[in-house]
Amino acid sequence: MNQSSIIRTSTAELYDANVMKNYARPAITLVRGRGAQVWDDAGNSYLDFTSGIAVSALGHCHPHWVAAIQRQAGELIHVSNLFRHPNQGELARRIVGQAGPGRVFFCNSGGEADEALIKLSRLHGVAKSGEEGKCFKVICAKNAFHGRMFGGMSATPQEKIQKGFRPLVPGFVFGELNNLQSFADLIDAQTSAILVETIQGESGIHPCTPEFLRGLRQLCDQHNLLLMLDEVQCGLGRTGKFYAFEHAGVLPDAIAMAKGLGGGFPIGAIWVRDRFADLFQPGSHGTTFGGTPLACAAGLAVLDVFARDNLLELVRTRSGPWLEALAKLAAEYPAQLTAVRGRGYLVGLQLASDPGPYVNALRERGLLVVSAGGNAIRVLPPLIATAEELARSVEILRAVFAAKA
Ligand SMILES: *Cc1c(COP(=O)(O)O)cnc(C)c1O
Repeated sequence: MNQSSIIRTSTAELYDANVMKNYARPAITLVRGRGAQVWDDAGNSYLDFTSGIAVSALGHCHPHWVAAIQRQAGELIHVSNLFRHPNQGELARRIVGQAGPGRVFFCNSGGEADEALIKLSRLHGVAKSGEEGKCFKVICAKNAFHGRMFGGMSATPQEKIQKGFRPLVPGFVFGELNNLQSFADLIDAQTSAILVETIQGESGIHPCTPEFLRGLRQLCDQHNLLLMLDEVQCGLGRTGKFYAFEHAGVLPDAIAMAKGLGGGFPIGAIWVRDRFADLFQPGSHGTTFGGTPLACAAGLAVLDVFARDNLLELVRTRSGPWLEALAKLAAEYPAQLTAVRGRGYLVGLQLASDPGPYVNALRERGLLVVSAGGNAIRVLPPLIATAEELARSVEILRAVFAAKA
């Protein structure tokens, strides 16, 4: 037995004996990453087109990001929100500069960002109705995913996520994605907000159409509802725009973001439009860790590289030929690959059968991807992925489809 297999066995044993069993993981142990590549403890390399589930926007260990984290770690890591520090102010300024006049609250994850949005909708309902408990309903979409906390889970109408955890938080009702009338029909005097993912991620990459988003904006304006967009997965450059809703030319009242924002360092945030930004007042919401000097340094480094390397423009140009090549693949293997959905580096491959065997076969050939709901595979390259790496992913996919044909 060589040394690397001793390490692999021991990590597997440590997991088996000590780590909670809430994930089904493949039998590899990752030890190192650089750019779009990761290596396991047996020395195999993989093209990582999971990006840690749309998190590692700059790939692994980007030098500018690593240097920023190292510098900040030696200066000041945590002070809590009892005090100001420069990085949180600067990161908030850049988010406001991107989203529009408003304010930012920092947290640590997408789930926390969604909880903050849901709490914001309650405060808006109180302001709107003049009373607590009268106006609290949020209209969400079927097949949505808004995280695993109680509010977000209650907004996630999927049996596999809610099972065992009832009773849920009351007040969530569900329309059909891209069916504006189904949302309009759910509005009543108790409705405070609409919350949707601009592009549904976990359910298999299902985008809101621009017309649907613009229609939701109109409904919210007509009925004084908050339009809240969950951009935790689709935001931060993944579609080639900073926020996915920018493609539709709408402006929401509030945005949840997280995954890509820290490039792999945990950070989440909500942006709230200036009109509604003062609903949270001292004491009404908080977090110990949100927006630490270190987390914000990581976020600032991500945004530095977006600007310095014109990264979103690169995503827009490089994704064009890649998406065309994927569409060609669907034409070659229509019995297996029935549709290609998404935009930029947020792509869902609709399979005709269970994606599990495909995910395994792709990994064995050196490509890591993420399965999603409804027999889909998500292909999520880091935003720094090169044309050559994108082309390589298509070749590996082709080989796997060909082997099963
Ligand atoms: C991942 C995700 C979340 C939850 O984020 P966590 O950081 O896992 O809590 C919420 N909403 C959407 C759209 C997501 O993709």
